[in-house]
Amino acid sequence: MNYCENCHIVIHASRCPACGGKDCREVREEDFCLLLERKASDCAVLKEVFEGEDIPCVAMPSGNGFRSSLGLRLENEKLFVPYAQLEQAKELVRALAARETERLRDQILQHADALHMAPRLARRLVKKWKAEDVLGVCKEKIASARRIEDGGRRLDGPGSGHFLFCYADGAMLCVDSESLEILSVTLQ
Ligand SMILES: [Zn+2]
Repeated sequence: MNYCENCHIVIHASRCPACGGKDCREVREEDFCLLLERKASDCAVLKEVFEGEDIPCVAMPSGNGFRSSLGLRLENEKLFVPYAQLEQAKELVRALAARETERLRDQILQHADALHMAPRLARRLVKKWKAEDVLGVCKEKIASARRIEDGGRRLDGPGSGHFLFCYADGAMLCVDSESLEILSVTLQ
């Protein structure tokens, strides 16, 4: 396994696919490797988890230069962990995502009767799915979604609902956590 000192990633080839750098060397246990890039609030949670597991972790703000030049708070962070603990860290991230998915799934399905959608969206889905009970199909999709994540607070509407993204077979649903309106269904 090789390591690009420029991008802080582990690679198979000798040339870095990200930056094109040719001087990649053998990776060492202590090399900090890019784990992921997420919202700063998500990274704060992960940093705590890693601390509890004694995994050293370095966070770097990542965002657009325009925002940072205006002194606005950067929204994303990149997290790096030593190569020796990279797999363990990835496993923890996967386990946390799975737990979060189940928590959000329960949160939605507990109030499944309150799920609703705009008539326009319903008409479109009736046509696409050739089904009358499109809300029923949506419930099944949420029940079987492989991943559900909190996309942050809605800033466009009333209330303090969060966007919940449900990734299911053949469709991605976006649900308002508070009103339980199905805001959009993107068919794949
Ligand atoms: Zn590189």
